[in-house]
Amino acid sequence: GAAVSPFKYTEPSQMQQYYKMEKKIACGAEFLITQVGWDWKKSLELFRYLKEVFPPQEGSIPVIGNVYLLSTLTPAPRLMHDGKLPGCFVSDELLAKVQSERVDDHIERAAQQVAMYKGLGAAGVDVGGVPTFEIFVKILNRAAQIGAGWEQFKGNLCWPTKDPFYLYDESGQRVPLITPYPTFGKRFFDFAHWAMLDPKHVGFRAFKKTMSVLGADAGEGAIYKLFNSTEKGFKYLMFDCEECGDCFLPENFGLCTMGGCEKGLDNAPCGDATADGHCGNNLDRVCTGERIYEAAASEDGGKMIEGKGRQRLRTTINKPRNPALRHTSSIINYLFGKDHTMKNALISIGESIHASIPKTGQIMKDLHALGAGAYTTPSPQLDYIRALVESQANDGADYIAVNLDAFGEQDPQQAVDMMVQYVRLVKRWGRGVPVCIDSSSDAVLVAGLKEWYANAPGVADHVKRGNESLHAPLLNSIKVYTMDKIMPLKKDYDFSFVGLLVSEEKATGPGGSHSVDELYALAKQLFDAAMRHGFKPGQIFFDSTVFPLAIDMPMEPGVPGYTYRTFETIKKIKADPRMKGVHCSLGISNSVRDLPARRIGVCRAYVAKAMEYGLDAGIVNTAHQYGTVEAPPELLELVDAYAKLDGSMEKTGKAMELMAQFCRDNRKAS
Ligand code: SF4
Repeated sequence: GAAVSPFKYTEPSQMQQYYKMEKKIACGAEFLITQVGWDWKKSLELFRYLKEVFPPQEGSIPVIGNVYLLSTLTPAPRLMHDGKLPGCFVSDELLAKVQSERVDDHIERAAQQVAMYKGLGAAGVDVGGVPTFEIFVKILNRAAQIGAGWEQFKGNLCWPTKDPFYLYDESGQRVPLITPYPTFGKRFFDFAHWAMLDPKHVGFRAFKKTMSVLGADAGEGAIYKLFNSTEKGFKYLMFDCEECGDCFLPENFGLCTMGGCEKGLDNAPCGDATADGHCGNNLDRVCTGERIYEAAASEDGGKMIEGKGRQRLRTTINKPRNPALRHTSSIINYLFGKDHTMKNALISIGESIHASIPKTGQIMKDLHALGAGAYTTPSPQLDYIRALVESQANDGADYIAVNLDAFGEQDPQQAVDMMVQYVRLVKRWGRGVPVCIDSSSDAVLVAGLKEWYANAPGVADHVKRGNESLHAPLLNSIKVYTMDKIMPLKKDYDFSFVGLLVSEEKATGPGGSHSVDELYALAKQLFDAAMRHGFKPGQIFFDSTVFPLAIDMPMEPGVPGYTYRTFETIKKIKADPRMKGVHCSLGISNSVRDLPARRIGVCRAYVAKAMEYGLDAGIVNTAHQYGTVEAPPELLELVDAYAKLDGSMEKTGKAMELMAQFCRDNRKAS
């Protein structure tokens, strides 16, 4: 669940609360709980906003209303009024009223609020500040008595600040939003960024080249030090910079949330701002969330609705800063791709949730055996799965794969039911990383896909708004003989897919298996069908299948090895201008099956070699960061020999010799 406060009275603070709420939902929050507050119009506003951004047909998100017994039994009313409990607001009038009342009146107001939340459609209430169980029961009984009649108490439930902001007018229509003019600081930042740091602009390339020629890209040396200290001084004066080395000024519209925010939040604001938009933890400063909103609104070109700037703010989720970069030059880190903008060398599909991995499979089995509630009730097994999901998300996985086919061997329906549960777990704990539904069963693929979008308005909406295919799930796999069944689902559900290059037709290539040309023809067939169904090339991941190196030895002369065919197929697909933009992916771990040792190193070498042919995605152990750490040269040589094993005596001999050497060396080592 996630918290949200509808009880903000400036437009920037309120809209930031709603935007952040949407981001929390996009990251997997399954319910909301409100901040405490005493303003029925604001409570209603939250429900209206939710209905507006998550239309009911996309499923609704449960809201728990926070009802606090505001009573002179405790010092809470005074503390909230005086701003001593950041984020909680009690107006002068409400404080005076509470102080003039009896405790029974306080209980009555709490009961009215419970009835109000029920009337507005809340899934429940969290009743706080209650000193005894008797009072708690009294509140609930009285709320039940009030029932649908809460509206007669509106006057007792409306204590806003002076000149409050409400997003909707009396008739339920949105009010016009502010249209600020960009500040001098913002205009300066935008210009400087465009001129020197926008990769689309020539200034970026010239600046990067200059820094590279001067040797500053190494992160050391006199030029680097001079540049770093100049940058620090300048950015301190301009942006209150605190030298994090992993700069988010572009994402935060030219404002620093390290120096500018009392808590140094990556994703400001928190919910502590006061009713007039000041920081609840330092009343001398305006909350940085307010300033970011105004800067974003200034990019909307005078529109009184959400335009480009506010839409960007609404969908931008900042990653945590990299602490290792502290005190280093953020500009150099950015120029040379060392900060959060660094792209994964490989689109990585985390492979850890796979029922055929013995330990994981056993835990999955034990978890399922716990019966009803197994996937929602805490247990060591569920914790284990949660850790697998979270660790892969933390490792930067682009997708988190789930494969449950081992459970479907005895009972196909069990794999379908379990996939639904696991998709929910990835949605809940995957921090927005989409699931890869990995199955040879079409029924499992379809069930997983539907579940990804079921009751998850945040995810679905985010996909539509962000228009980024990576947020949609990945289906692994579609083959030419299943494409007519699965691809039409694209009409209703956005997804990417792995096109597995296998066929039911008899292979006619050398050695009785598919030739490179046959595999390429399968790719073209899948590609053409995908285009007809509205996929973009970037949503297609071709898999030309991996064969273990240890047994990749042709039985007849003149027959190329499987690795050769796999790599050459990738090369051919990537060279086809018609298929520009498609991805090629492989299940990397298969390559090291049956090798005696150094499997991670061989995987690294396999990825590095395959990338030379055009591989840009892989089903991998995300912890190993394949594609970024260099592979040992002798292992690169080994994989290279298999990549070139075209069936000639010479190439076959070389691959055999290197493999024999590898096995000898590693047996000795063990
Ligand atoms: S400045 Fe930071 S800590 Fe203060 S209210 Fe805003 S977000 Fe919260």
